[in-house]
Amino acid sequence: MARRRPLPDPINSNRSPGRSLLHWISRALLVLLVIVLGGITLLGLLETPGVANWLAGVGRQAPLVGLIAGHWQNDSGAVCPDGLEEAEINLSIARRVAYILRQQGVRVEVLPEYSPKINGFKADALLSIHSDSCRDDLSGFKLARMTHSADPEAEDRLVELLYASYAEATGLKPHLNTITDDMREYHALRRIAPETPGAIIECGFMGGDRHLLTAEQDRVAAGIANGLMAFLRERTNFPNATTAP
Ligand SMILES: [Zn+2]
Repeated sequence: MARRRPLPDPINSNRSPGRSLLHWISRALLVLLVIVLGGITLLGLLETPGVANWLAGVGRQAPLVGLIAGHWQNDSGAVCPDGLEEAEINLSIARRVAYILRQQGVRVEVLPEYSPKINGFKADALLSIHSDSCRDDLSGFKLARMTHSADPEAEDRLVELLYASYAEATGLKPHLNTITDDMREYHALRRIAPETPGAIIECGFMGGDRHLLTAEQDRVAAGIANGLMAFLRERTNFPNATTAP
């Protein structure tokens, strides 16, 4: 069998060892340049707010909010002489708030007053929704967090943001001198997980604020939803957050 001559090296056959080394060094420098430029471009992209928000959202669930519809599935709450019941108003408002929040991508659980789920409930926020007595001579709303809060800073901020958003949406004034110990020692706020920021709202008086509470529940719900969204934006940097009309 005839011995084949080895094929000539296509790269080095006509080159001196010095030229070959120069060739590989220039290639290595080119690759290095591409890597450096690519890295700089990638870092720049990561700094872009849209991309940063998207990355922050990857792998993370949407925030969760618990809404307790005051007295629901337990008792009627306050009752007016004409039969108007607090529990009905609270449930209707809670469902409207849930609708607004879900439209903005928030997970929401609407809970009955004594739901077993409240024990150790973990969420980004919890709000219990109530309405005040049927007195015609009183008007206003109020909020409270638990007296011995595990995270007073977070709960104070939740309360503060809700005061601002609710007053803006409803035009109602805070009625601070009727905040009771019942509100500050409210059972659900003692039962939720200590790391869940919680508060209770009295949306207005069923007497003096009757029209708002029965005929303008969209404004009531927007006032609550806007405060909760503002809180979620601050605490969880939740993207795509917009303000309800
Ligand atoms: Zn109540």
